[in-house]
Amino acid sequence: MNDSAPETLDIVIIGAGFSGMYALYRLRRDYEVLCLEAGDGVGGTWYWNRYPGARVDIESAEYSYGFDNDLQQEWRWPELFAAQPDLERYANHVADRFALRDRIRLSTRVTRMRFDESSNLWHVWTDRGGHLVCRYVIAATGSLTASNTPEWPGRESFRGQVLHTTEWPREGVDFSGKRVGLVGTGSSGVQAAPIIAEQAEHLYVFQRTPAFSMPSGNRPVDPDYERDWKAHYPERRKQMLETYGASLVKYPTVSALECTKEEQERILEAAWHSRSAFQLLVCFTDVLTDMAANEVVCDFVRRKIRQIVKDPQTAHLLCPTTYPIGGKRLCIDNGYYPMFNRDNVTLVDARATPITAFCEEGLQTTGRTWPLDVIVLATGFDALTGAMTRIDIEGEGGLRLQDKWREGPTTYFGSMVAGFPNLFMIHGPMTPSAQAQMITTGEWQVDWTARIIDDMQREGLTRIQTDETAEHWWQDELSQVANATVHRHADSWYRGTNIAGKADVFMIYVGGFQRFAQLCTAAVEEGYRGFRRS
Ligand code: NAP
Repeated sequence: MNDSAPETLDIVIIGAGFSGMYALYRLRRDYEVLCLEAGDGVGGTWYWNRYPGARVDIESAEYSYGFDNDLQQEWRWPELFAAQPDLERYANHVADRFALRDRIRLSTRVTRMRFDESSNLWHVWTDRGGHLVCRYVIAATGSLTASNTPEWPGRESFRGQVLHTTEWPREGVDFSGKRVGLVGTGSSGVQAAPIIAEQAEHLYVFQRTPAFSMPSGNRPVDPDYERDWKAHYPERRKQMLETYGASLVKYPTVSALECTKEEQERILEAAWHSRSAFQLLVCFTDVLTDMAANEVVCDFVRRKIRQIVKDPQTAHLLCPTTYPIGGKRLCIDNGYYPMFNRDNVTLVDARATPITAFCEEGLQTTGRTWPLDVIVLATGFDALTGAMTRIDIEGEGGLRLQDKWREGPTTYFGSMVAGFPNLFMIHGPMTPSAQAQMITTGEWQVDWTARIIDDMQREGLTRIQTDETAEHWWQDELSQVANATVHRHADSWYRGTNIAGKADVFMIYVGGFQRFAQLCTAAVEEGYRGFRRS
């Protein structure tokens, strides 16, 4: 470390995931920019989450960059829903094609940041002993970055291997002949389970809360489908940004409660086969706003589960009954429910008999020991805030972000935090996050942020900040739309209730991406409302 001569830059970007890489591409033309990345490769989420079965849950034709038409015309997705290796390959292709690598520093984790009020500059320190000084920091740290590992005692006593879906070994894992315990049935567990079951001697799925999941219908990309997308990319990208989820699903016109039973079934069957979780959640106008309408969809999915899973007791246990569908992220799977018809798969009720400890042989639940060779934790993330609060960030007057957010995050548009000037987040807490298609909306947020920085530069300003009045206004807007939905009736990472001791605050903007974008644009265009610039 050479603290006497820090590296000087205009902008530091944290994270070389999809948003961080686009931010680098967008800003490097006009600024001295450096992107710091904790992993030893690019791709962010799609670098870390390399567990078996990891694939995107939105069709890749949509879930891909739109900023360069040649890129989207030339790139070929082999499957409708790209698997992790293809997404990582795509991230690397983008890094090479747009010559981003020389401004990305890999295996470099940001550990500490401090805002110097006298110079309006950020000091950034890394775990490699680096010290950088810059005008702006853009934290493209992702919504789902900091992993959550249950704190059961006895891990060191377990004779086998413990893996977490978010930190999967690059060389892969051979489950042949192994007894595998998979803990967690969110999107990660639901995707990993069928692949593990094909290899393992026996798979035990420890389920605390059953997930709602629908089949992806994944298959190789058909040439006509690809041609059609490539012929219409520019207008479709534009259309996406005008929708609720930045996704081209069919938006409904009819309430579930106004349909006949036959109409309901026809609409639900079409949505079930649509390949889109968004489609199932918006197949009626009121699925996400009315519990009775929501129950129509819940009941449909539960009937599907009972049709697919042959053992009635297992089917019963797999049926979610305690929260509304879409209240937390709906999973998309490739053979999850049919997997329970295999002889080598057992569903364990970790609600009735919770896991209490690791032990020498495997896992201990109340009442018994489960002998295992490998334990796979698909136990999710300290989502939305975790990536930021795990960095020691000191803003104005010594204010620390961890302290400021102790009772839950406060932000203006999920982008800026009062007390932390010149620091922007992409996909921060209180943005639409996973409620919208994240590559496209990430590009949009980067463009909006870049425009703000460009304006600062042009006007010769050096400090931009928000204040608590603006944060309260955004909190009110967020709460108002969230309270009008079914989300408040589900425990999830959207609310922080998946992490013991984390404040229970709804952290996603569910008012729709198009409204979010309109409000962000209006604030900037109408005299930087809610910001202070000097
Ligand atoms: P998650 O949805 O938070 O699921 C974590 C699972 O672990 C839950 O079933 C949870 O049970 C269980 N769990 C946690 N602690 C436990 C404990 N002590 N004992 C027993 N069970 C425990 O996490 P995730 O599956 O990693 O997914 C997170 C998000 O990442 C998704 O919602 C999605 O947005 C994104 N994701 C997307 C994809 C995709 O695009 N295909 C794939 C993976 C993830 P409870 O529900 O009872 O807490």
